[in-house]
Amino acid sequence: MAAPPTRPLPVADDLSRPFWEAARQHRLVVQRCQACGYFNHPPRSACDACLSPQLCFEPVSGRGTIYSFTVMHQPAVAGFAEQLPYLNILVELDEQPLLFMVSDLPIGEREKVRIGARVEVCFEEIDATLTLPQFRVV
Ligand SMILES: [Zn+2]
Repeated sequence: MAAPPTRPLPVADDLSRPFWEAARQHRLVVQRCQACGYFNHPPRSACDACLSPQLCFEPVSGRGTIYSFTVMHQPAVAGFAEQLPYLNILVELDEQPLLFMVSDLPIGEREKVRIGARVEVCFEEIDATLTLPQFRVV
């Protein structure tokens, strides 16, 4: 499903490029510290837990729970006005407490969305160069 043309899209940089390249292959990866094992997301140049620069991307399960969510009614976020209202969910991945990713869902999913609901990753192909990891309630 193509996103509305006005929707802001992520641009890969040197730190995040492996994440986006894996997403294009429908794989979810997260940067992991090779010194202490801590997962860091979004990608950064040093580990949040021990400050080591030895970080590599590793596959994760793509499963997690909804930690929090909100129903967006505000048209202030550029590119999303046509989708109002919609849901923003904060997903805590199974691999580590407080390892978060965000996703948006159509308002039609509201009945399924609650804190603690189980989710799994899915992949939204925007175009030939960009695929967004998203989450759906299972
Ligand atoms: Zn570390």
